[in-house]
Amino acid sequence: MTTARQLFHLQELDSEIARVGSEVSSVESLIGDRTPLAEPESALKSAQERYHKLHADHAEKELQAGTIRTKLEEERGKLYGGTVTNVRELEALEQESTLLAADLQRREEALLQMMEELEESTSALAEAERRHSIEAAQWKSDQEELTNRWQKLGEGLEELGTKRKETAQALPAGELKRYEALRTSKGGVAVARVERGLCRGCLMTLPTHQMQKARMARELVTCNSCGRLLFVS
Ligand SMILES: [Zn+2]
Repeated sequence: MTTARQLFHLQELDSEIARVGSEVSSVESLIGDRTPLAEPESALKSAQERYHKLHADHAEKELQAGTIRTKLEEERGKLYGGTVTNVRELEALEQESTLLAADLQRREEALLQMMEELEESTSALAEAERRHSIEAAQWKSDQEELTNRWQKLGEGLEELGTKRKETAQALPAGELKRYEALRTSKGGVAVARVERGLCRGCLMTLPTHQMQKARMARELVTCNSCGRLLFVS
């Protein structure tokens, strides 16, 4: 293997390491990220709060209506029980019973309406629970997949690192240093492939003598135009 070919191979490894490395970072940023659950969790919380509030309100109003009902029964008991005979007292009892009955009716109508709302809220809660459990299961399986992917990428990265080390060790120290410096200064591309007489690094046509030198590959040839090392495959 010529040095240019070895350097080109090293560059391929370095690009692959960078690509896998950035994939690792993006996978890592998703591991443990609960953002996808925020919406279903908050919807479930609101549905639970609404249901509990309606339930408590309904129970309280029902209790109040029960008190009125008992009071009305007592008044009616007195009214028709025959123990009260005084006309003015009876009139007062009747008036109070009428008021209580009207109040009770209003309360019972309101309770019916609350019951409807409560039923609607029960269905909404069940739906929110269903959706949340689907999303949570999906999230869990996504997380498992991400963790597996992260592990595989890590293994791949380790393998690439070993190959990179072997490739670099086989290269003369001076050429390796030149490669590293060019890779830094030339946007990650130190070695440019030559195709149909063109440097792929800058797309300029190479002079014939330079092309020949690069093809013979006895020494490293750089592109006059972009300064990259040339590699004829
Ligand atoms: Zn060039």
